[in-house]
Amino acid sequence: MPKPPKDITCKCGHTTTLETSKLLCIKCGKYVFYNDREKRRYKMTTFYTLALFLLAFGFLTFLFMEMIVTPLMSGQAVRP
Ligand SMILES: [Zn+2]
Repeated sequence: MPKPPKDITCKCGHTTTLETSKLLCIKCGKYVFYNDREKRRYKMTTFYTLALFLLAFGFLTFLFMEMIVTPLMSGQAVRP
């Protein structure tokens, strides 16, 4: 989504001109955000990505348990 250019001063003191919701600061390599709303959105996105990753990892562990460990315990391999 195009936005009017806005100068944002990073915590390191470098000023970046933003036309998007966020941009990497070329001096310190951290993200600078267009406004607090974009910053919150980015944090939520990061949180959800992490949560999804953990969920996927948990699901894979569950699948592993179901596909490998349970058949071994019951003494027969189950193929999908
Ligand atoms: Zn910076």
